Amino acid sequence: MTPVDHPAAPSPRLSYRLAFASALVAGGALLLAVALLIVVEFFALRSALVDDTRVQAALIADNVSAALVFNDAEAAADIVGSLRASSIVIGAIVVDGEGATLAAYPDGFAADRSNPGDFAVDDHRFRESRLELVAPVRHRGAMLGHVHLVVSMAVVYQRLGVYAVAALGIAAVALLVAVGLLSRVRQSVHLAEQNLRHLAHIDPVTGLANRNAFNERLEFAIREADSFDEKVAMLLLDLDNFKQVNDTLGHQAGDELLRMVAQRMLRALRRDDVVARLGGDEFAVILHRVGARSEVTQVCSKLIETIGQPLPVEGLDFFVTASVGVAFFPEDAQDSRTLTRNADTAMYQAKLAGKNAFELFVPAMNASVKKRVTLESSLRTAMANGELALHYQPKIDLMSGRVLGFEALLRWQSPEHGNVSPADFVPIAEDCGLIVPIGEWVITQALADLRTWNDGRAHKLHVAVNLSTRQLRVDDISRRIARLIADCAVPADWLELELTESMVMENVHAQIETFHQLRELGVKLAIDDFGTGYSSMSYLKRLPIDTLKIDRSFVSDLPQDANDLAIATAIVAVGHSLGLTVIAEGIESADQAEALLNLGCDLGQGYLYARPMPAGEVVRYLAAAG
Ligand code: C2E
Ligand code: MG
Ligand code: MG
Repeated sequence: MTPVDHPAAPSPRLSYRLAFASALVAGGALLLAVALLIVVEFFALRSALVDDTRVQAALIADNVSAALVFNDAEAAADIVGSLRASSIVIGAIVVDGEGATLAAYPDGFAADRSNPGDFAVDDHRFRESRLELVAPVRHRGAMLGHVHLVVSMAVVYQRLGVYAVAALGIAAVALLVAVGLLSRVRQSVHLAEQNLRHLAHIDPVTGLANRNAFNERLEFAIREADSFDEKVAMLLLDLDNFKQVNDTLGHQAGDELLRMVAQRMLRALRRDDVVARLGGDEFAVILHRVGARSEVTQVCSKLIETIGQPLPVEGLDFFVTASVGVAFFPEDAQDSRTLTRNADTAMYQAKLAGKNAFELFVPAMNASVKKRVTLESSLRTAMANGELALHYQPKIDLMSGRVLGFEALLRWQSPEHGNVSPADFVPIAEDCGLIVPIGEWVITQALADLRTWNDGRAHKLHVAVNLSTRQLRVDDISRRIARLIADCAVPADWLELELTESMVMENVHAQIETFHQLRELGVKLAIDDFGTGYSSMSYLKRLPIDTLKIDRSFVSDLPQDANDLAIATAIVAVGHSLGLTVIAEGIESADQAEALLNLGCDLGQGYLYARPMPAGEVVRYLAAAG
């Protein structure tokens, strides 16, 4: 498949015909101009001949006047005989007052003197390519006779011929030069047009069709399928962890990766399938003449499989996965916009379902997307309306049973949607960026609450706040957090920031600097849900962290599950060997607590000790805990 071609491009034959037609028009115009010039030149040459002949006749008339006075035919013959020097004179006669010919050149020449009425003395006329001119011969005012001179117009025609040939030659050369220049200009315009059309239709990074070209192709595919009663499948493919490569290795490596993905997609598809990059890490595919749905699901699996193979970028193997959404014409949508929207909804579902998968569109998906959209719009006003609150869950020293601090957990009591779990709304807040202001509010609120609880306390408590990676990407995050701490006027080490292991490892290169800056503030750092995010031990060593938090999933089946026990043991060992505090979350039973204590785990948190409680209950809880 050629990545892109343009059905709208005019055929070269048509443009040649256009060029030929315009050359023809220009040639016609030049020819007309040359013809007009020749006519003008003819009259100019003719009038010059008349002037010359008149001068010549006047000279003869002057010279011959004496011969006429004396009726001296010999002298008159001598004078007109001098005309032999002229190449254009055909003949001349000298006529006396009575109309008799006194002398003629050449001898015996007789001018046609018919119609003398329309041919007065001192006049001229043109006749059969000759010019005849009559000049009066006067002596002291008296009319003695006249000289009748006949000259050939051949010279006029000769000169006109030369002039015409020259003019036509010049016109032809001018036409050739103009046509040459024109065709060069036309060629460069054509090239520029082609370039523009190319740029408007291809994605410069991958060479695939871009969004514009894709939309045109989709419209076309739908029209065609409609007339032939066929099915079209549209696949929308989004890379799941492309940002990581882009952020880690930079945009050039990111582009390289996109090119590799594009090549793999092209190889996995048929020649007449359309592949496009719609922007960012989003690709789209059109499959024509689809038979069974299973055909399409096979294509989806193949795409996911081929993209999932390691991608070598700058000497490192990167693993990128893809989520694919599929919608069919005509079952799922009748027009390209709805088809695209539905494929997008399906893709979104594939992401929600855990990524690296495909989903076929079903109408119920629209409802779940709608729900998310309404949740998002309610969330936008939740903070201002005071619908957000913090609940606190104590962290217990497993050995002594003492409360060492709390984890602040966000709660949303929405008048519209009821109690929304942070597991549901935090990802939405992350996607739309609301997590940044919400997260800052959480820190401020948690520190303000902690200040009242620590007031007059011998052993100061700390508070742990969950942070999302989206917050880490905010410019100057450490300065912003420093300001929040300063505004609350509390020591920085009262605050612990919890980051989930998967978030940290997703972009560890880019974040390590931020971690160090936060650490310099005096803030403590913990890795949450540890054991689920495939930490690299070498990174763990380099990260300036204080605490590892064993994920709940390894705690719930303790002490019976041998695997979980082994994992928990390993995490405690790794944590302690790196000099970190280890805490277990989700402790619900005394057996679990005991098993963890036996493993050497330092702290615990879970329903066994207390469920997350509103701030108002914390004082009572602390009083009871002593
Ligand atoms: P997490 O940070 O791992 O929080 C622990 C979760 O486990 C909390 O769920 C807590 O209520 C629950 N939990 C505690 N003890 C037990 C137990 O014994 N058994 C069971 N089954 N569960 C227990 P919650 O409050 O629903 O929070 C869910 C997640 O939402 C949190 O996981 C955290 O990742 C996120 N989250 C909560 N508050 C915030 C916040 O302010 N900012 C950010 N970015 N994320 C937050
Ligand atoms: Mg947490
Ligand atoms: Mg956790």
